[in-house]
Amino acid sequence: MTDRTDDGTIARIRAEVLATARRTVADGLVVGTSGNVSARIGDMILVTPGGVPYDRLRPEDVVAVGLDGRPVSGGLAPDGPAPGRLAPTSELPLHLAVYRATDATAIVHTHAVHATAVSTLVTELPAIHYMTAALGGPVRVAPYALYGSDELARHALTALDGRTGCLLRNHGTLTYGTTLDQAYDRTAQLEWMCRVWLAASGVSGRTPSLLDAGQLAEAGEKLRGYGRRRDRAGRD
Ligand code: 13P
Ligand code: ZN
Repeated sequence: MTDRTDDGTIARIRAEVLATARRTVADGLVVGTSGNVSARIGDMILVTPGGVPYDRLRPEDVVAVGLDGRPVSGGLAPDGPAPGRLAPTSELPLHLAVYRATDATAIVHTHAVHATAVSTLVTELPAIHYMTAALGGPVRVAPYALYGSDELARHALTALDGRTGCLLRNHGTLTYGTTLDQAYDRTAQLEWMCRVWLAASGVSGRTPSLLDAGQLAEAGEKLRGYGRRRDRAGRD
């Protein structure tokens, strides 16, 4: 589909990918060039370049690749920046693996402080809050593997089974969604839950209460209608 997709849509998504990446810095979820963001349009992935501070990037620097990771023109005019001029994120294998295996159309990866701390302590974030249900259930921690490796991508996919987010041990977070805003919001909620769990579990002599599977299922059901407008008869 790549070159046939509407160029205006691609340009808009490039700008949204960059804006989302900048937001991860502004909101303190990463420092420097850490983390990466991508979005999928058909068979094209638009992804942040590796190792470049987001405030120095222009939307046209967002790299376009196919699902096989090869550069594609991504709607840029022939006299625009050469495709592949900047290398895609080192975590391209991770992003591609998630797109191939799920219905994701947007992915956010960060090194958020509380989430990264939690990734070193447990194999699963305990169900400390009902927003656990918004990520599909208790968020798992993928075993450690070198950043950018196929092994990390494999571990993440296993941890993501039935979930829209996971922690990466001694590394950070990965969430996905059907929009960049949704993927971003899931990261922010995950980081916030990690912060709550750290705060509660750090109280000496006390153990935090947790939600059981029934309570999470009930919250998940209710969240499906959350934020939706109702018609005049009060129906969803
Ligand atoms: P990139 O700068 O290559 O995107 O890498 C940052 C990162 O978070 C690696 O895990
Ligand atoms: Zn990382």
